[in-house]
Amino acid sequence: MTDTKDVHLYVGGRWRKTERTQPIINPANEEVLGQVAVASVSDLQEAVEAAREGFRIWSRTSPEHRANVIMRAAALMRERQEEIARSITLENGKSLQEARLEVIRGAEFFEWDAGEALRLYGRVIPSAQGIRYMVVHEPIGVVAAFTPWNFPMSQPARKIAGALASGCSIIIKASEETPTGVVHIARAFEDAGLPAGVLNLVFGIPSEISETLIPNPEVRMVAFTGSTAVGKHLTEIAARHMKPALMELGGHAPVIVCEDADPVAAGVACATRKYRNSGQVCTSPTRFFVHESIYEPFVEAFLGKVRSLTVGHGMEPDTDMGPVANDRRIAALQELVDDAVAKGAQLLCGGHRYERPGYFFAPTALGRVPDGARVLAEEPFGPLAIINPIVSVEDGIERANTLPFGLAAYGFSKSSANVDKLCRGLEAGNVSINTLEASRAETPFGGVKESGLGREGGAEGLHHYVQVKNISHQID
Ligand code: NAD
Repeated sequence: MTDTKDVHLYVGGRWRKTERTQPIINPANEEVLGQVAVASVSDLQEAVEAAREGFRIWSRTSPEHRANVIMRAAALMRERQEEIARSITLENGKSLQEARLEVIRGAEFFEWDAGEALRLYGRVIPSAQGIRYMVVHEPIGVVAAFTPWNFPMSQPARKIAGALASGCSIIIKASEETPTGVVHIARAFEDAGLPAGVLNLVFGIPSEISETLIPNPEVRMVAFTGSTAVGKHLTEIAARHMKPALMELGGHAPVIVCEDADPVAAGVACATRKYRNSGQVCTSPTRFFVHESIYEPFVEAFLGKVRSLTVGHGMEPDTDMGPVANDRRIAALQELVDDAVAKGAQLLCGGHRYERPGYFFAPTALGRVPDGARVLAEEPFGPLAIINPIVSVEDGIERANTLPFGLAAYGFSKSSANVDKLCRGLEAGNVSINTLEASRAETPFGGVKESGLGREGGAEGLHHYVQVKNISHQID
């Protein structure tokens, strides 16, 4: 199963080979799938030039035409679902079924933002006779975007959709570890008739790319999804050059299970969601705070679901959970488990890698993890759950809010009083009750505290890609 071919840059509407390349590894068997291009500084400068020209054309294209091109490209992605999903599974490891859903989700981001392109309304401010004040939204310019490896197609889709729907051009550096998802997006846009230079793909040395693109005066905005540490670094570079930054960063999502919730239904739902994408999701439910009166049945139901999971190669039809994306994650997970167990946590299941080729880490749950264990504060970003008892909903909310993160938070309760406490009390950009779904194309998504700046999707999603211009018109 080695059908990824070499991946090139896409600059000014042309696919471009580079002298330097680096290997793309299948995380399920460590085989080399192909080579990905490594951009030189002059490739990056040419990408900026191409995006400048792309912006000139695209910003003057009518919103209706922009929306039509985006809808055509999204339709092509839906048609090519199987091919795109296959590439995602081979490079990232997730099951083919999850990869198929990711492709549909990516298409939905494009479809939603295409609709929003038609609704970027300005306003007219009430004024005296003879003068008119108008507020209009103009596309901000060339966007530099950076996306990670956990959703190789839908993460780039979100950024490209926002930029293109608003009339911006974009240079995107998707992950070198999983580069083919964004290549499929570019091909769909090429076939849908997007003018050259509006969408440009680069790959290479991440720090070299961000340090070259962000300071360039033609680049007017930065968008990033990834770790809080890298997000802060890129925000600092952007601030030095007075550029806005849209940041979707880490989380360490709490789940509060109240005493009136059904512990079995909640336990099964939580375990099912936890191990999606091998836990490598910024909204992945991770810190489970379960009322002590239902702690044991919750844990039993959770572990029952874990035992039913099939871990294997994503291409195999019965696989529920694939490998993690790379060996960095294996090392990070093992450290967190060992630290917690050494400090007195119960190892409820897993806690080790599998002795086989590929980056397979067993679905893991830790119980009664003591304060001071690193895993309570550090996002594991893998198949690792923490299940701790709480004495009340207030206790759960307090524990949930102790971290500097605030991306997604979840609660399970049948009581409207508890739900109200959760919705008001949880410090997060997205609070979900009795469901572990955190975001959809039509709902705004993003974090508070160190989980990020700004929102993607929903009616708010295009706001970052436009700037407000006020026009005062004195009428003779
Ligand atoms: P990382 O933070 O170094 O990389 C994450 C992504 O950022 C990669 O795709 C990488 O290419 C890019 N990146 C890194 N340094 C960059 C730079 N200087 N300029 C531009 N782009 C840069 O590390 P990692 O090992 O891949 O992931 C570690 C942590 O990142 C995880 O534990 C998790 O917390 C976080 N992460 C979050 C998300 C998310 O969806 N929010 C996705 C992936 C990783």
